[in-house]
Amino acid sequence: MFKVCVLGATGMVGQKFVQLLSRHPWFKVTTLMASERRVGKIYGEEVDWIVSSEIPRDVFDIEMVSMDPKNCDADIVFSALPSEVAREVEPKFAREGFVVASNASAFRMEDDVPLVIPEVNPDHLKLVEFQKRNRGWDGFIVTNPNCTAIMLTISLKPLMDLGLRSVRVATMQALSGAGYPGVPSLAIVDNVIPFIKGEEEKVESEPLKILGRIENCKVVPADIEISASCHRVPVIDGHLEAVWAKFDRDVKIEEIVEAFESLKPLDLPSSPKKVIVVRREIDRPQPRLDRDEGGGMSVVVGRIKNVSDREVRYLVLGHNTVRGAAGASILNAELMIKEGYID
Ligand code: NAP
Repeated sequence: MFKVCVLGATGMVGQKFVQLLSRHPWFKVTTLMASERRVGKIYGEEVDWIVSSEIPRDVFDIEMVSMDPKNCDADIVFSALPSEVAREVEPKFAREGFVVASNASAFRMEDDVPLVIPEVNPDHLKLVEFQKRNRGWDGFIVTNPNCTAIMLTISLKPLMDLGLRSVRVATMQALSGAGYPGVPSLAIVDNVIPFIKGEEEKVESEPLKILGRIENCKVVPADIEISASCHRVPVIDGHLEAVWAKFDRDVKIEEIVEAFESLKPLDLPSSPKKVIVVRREIDRPQPRLDRDEGGGMSVVVGRIKNVSDREVRYLVLGHNTVRGAAGASILNAELMIKEGYID
């Protein structure tokens, strides 16, 4: 078993980490950290637990400690910190030799930091060698994408070989994506909020890095254009995205479906049996019905249709705190172990 620490363990993503890790075959939670006000408090008594009916027994009695690498009894550090805090804290752990698997956006777009989806760009992990050399760190930081960008990018990966040129996406994003306590209820009930700070920029830039190729120790971004419009909707979990994809040649629905179904799952504990599940019913995917597909690690596509000979419209849905956050970091850590980056 690998000992693991969660930074930001009391938040929305932190709780999801704790829940997923507590039943993980390779990982054991040994250290939990949150803001200074939590130091010395017992996790189970202190956390405002909202991700399931019960706090896992094996973490209930852990005493939270201050965010100092010296207090960390772990091999791997999972970060669920706000970005501005992550920018300061994560390097302290990496410098001291820890492997940091981060959800935060702070380092995602830096040249020497891998931004990884295991089924899409596992080879980008090799950037950690440059990172360690550049920064003189014993450990390193590996990031996973923004929760909206990850679903979109998984669906775009198989379309790249069909001559994908440009993408427009309109998102319907769940409340849990805004953290806890998140958006005030009076602002979101009976409403849609057509702005999420920084989100459109992330959705337009992160997939290009992930779908890019490594040349001379850096990622050359994929040569496609993405335009995004992001919206918060009154759904608890599950981001739904309407995607219009344009190609440089004629495309048929059957080859799009075949491409989606061809994305191979990995032999890792958190990998779903199907990475992309194609639903053929006219009114799917729906957040409530489809977000838990593959334990929340599959993405679900549907309503695929030709808009013109060279353009296709489809919907993609994924669980934002599982595939879009904690589950994504955990899958990255599993890949790092399998590929020998962690021993
Ligand atoms: P959240 O619910 O607001 O949780 C934030 C966590 O960080 C809490 O544990 C909080 O501790 C801790 N924290 C806040 N300020 C701190 C400080 N100054 N020092 C130390 N700890 C501090 O946010 P979240 O939704 O879980 O998001 C966490 C990160 O994941 C963010 O970077 C977010 O962008 C990213 N992310 C979120 C999602 C999602 O679906 N929610 C998806 C992908 C990525 P206290 O409880 O003690 O204040």
